[in-house]
Amino acid sequence: MKRIYMDYSATTPVHPEVVKAMLPYFTEKFGNASTIYSFGREARKAVEEAREVFAGMLGAYQAETIFTGGGTESDNHAIKGVAYANRAKGNHIITCKTEHHAVLEPCHFLEKEGFTVTYLPVDREGLVDPEDVKKAITGKTILISIMMANNEIGVLQPVTEIGRVAREHKVYFHTDAVQAFGILPINVEQMNIDLLSVSSHKLYGPKGVGALYFRKGVKLAQLLHGGEQEKKRRAGTENVAGIVGFARACKIAQKEMAAERIRLTALREKLIAGFFKKIPGVLLNGHAEKRLPNNVNISVKYIEGESIILNLDLEGICASTGSACTSGSLEPSHVLTALGVTAENSHGSVRFSLGKFTSEEDVDVVLTKMPEVVQRLRKLSPLYKPGKNGNA
Ligand SMILES: *Cc1c(COP(=O)(O)O)cnc(C)c1O
Repeated sequence: MKRIYMDYSATTPVHPEVVKAMLPYFTEKFGNASTIYSFGREARKAVEEAREVFAGMLGAYQAETIFTGGGTESDNHAIKGVAYANRAKGNHIITCKTEHHAVLEPCHFLEKEGFTVTYLPVDREGLVDPEDVKKAITGKTILISIMMANNEIGVLQPVTEIGRVAREHKVYFHTDAVQAFGILPINVEQMNIDLLSVSSHKLYGPKGVGALYFRKGVKLAQLLHGGEQEKKRRAGTENVAGIVGFARACKIAQKEMAAERIRLTALREKLIAGFFKKIPGVLLNGHAEKRLPNNVNISVKYIEGESIILNLDLEGICASTGSACTSGSLEPSHVLTALGVTAENSHGSVRFSLGKFTSEEDVDVVLTKMPEVVQRLRKLSPLYKPGKNGNA
């Protein structure tokens, strides 16, 4: 049976060219980037070139970067780093309810350390209102952190406007761009972004590598203490092979982005239209247009998302409920709850995220199998009464 992978928002396969670029840095170019002889200089050069590639991809003029152990570390570093370094100025942080846990949990942690955090609401389509951001700013606000694209529902936040509000009030603006990076063009100058987090494994790079961009001059505290790597901002021997792989993944994404965006949007629309046509009682979660080209998140009434996933898996189709990080927990998705989706509909949510190897044929297979799975499960569901609410 051919397997169909539709969970690219959870992770992506490493591009063969990325693997090839990385290999020498495990073998003949194994040097420690902090040493001064030729092996070390070779590694150092590769890391610095990767930095250029990353900054170039963001259109950044005055870029500082820290290579990290992934998106989670980048988010932690941005939030705790700004909080600790700017404590004398204030102790207030603004974020929103639908952020990834890699943003929400550092915020919860900081609340225990005497910081106050405003968790802004979103509208029914998942959008933050820049006016709400403006109203939430106080004399003590030091950071606004709003994600570029949501990992569960793909909603694209108005980051440029939020960045403008932040700039007008001289507050740092951080965005978790893990889902958007590599799929949508990003320009930190035009979008008024001061700090930005990305993760390599979401764009066909290796896992366990990420980067944090910050504008020159942003006051950022150190999280990891030890050696003097990354200009003393992040101690620890650089993951040279991983960083090289990440940079190669950036280059490939940059080249393919425009065409992929069009291709994926068409597949996304076909999938959504097909679900609506073939399955009664389906709701689309998140804004219909302001969403990632590769994200489809639906709620299927009267049945459980988890059962759908397991049944699709039997058909060789890989999708997920909400975010990969929280599947397995019985709580309804915090994202869907923030949109006002009922607990029942939230439990029936499924995310299909498309990517490089998704073909139109894959979409057709999913559009054949999914209605069968839904019908089978609904027959077993005590909530479903054919004829009565079958077309709800
Ligand atoms: C995946 C993801 C992260 C975490 O990145 P890791 O590299 O897996 O730690 C953070 N934020 C968002 C929006 C994500 O999708």
